[in-house]
Amino acid sequence: MAVRHFGKCLTCGERSADTADAEDAQVWCLQHAGLTHHSGYEMSAFQYFNATMTDPGIEPHAT
Ligand SMILES: [Zn+2]
Repeated sequence: MAVRHFGKCLTCGERSADTADAEDAQVWCLQHAGLTHHSGYEMSAFQYFNATMTDPGIEPHAT
């Protein structure tokens, strides 16, 4: 799965939509800075993945 990126404003907590391109997240930060004069940002990268059961015989939550 591809890495996704988003930017988050550390002043108000608002964050961009996640995007495939880190630059798009950075552009969001710059636009947000232009509108609000908020200057601290956090850039994050993460991945979605699908968890699938490879051994259905094991059920950890069964009692
Ligand atoms: Zn902000």
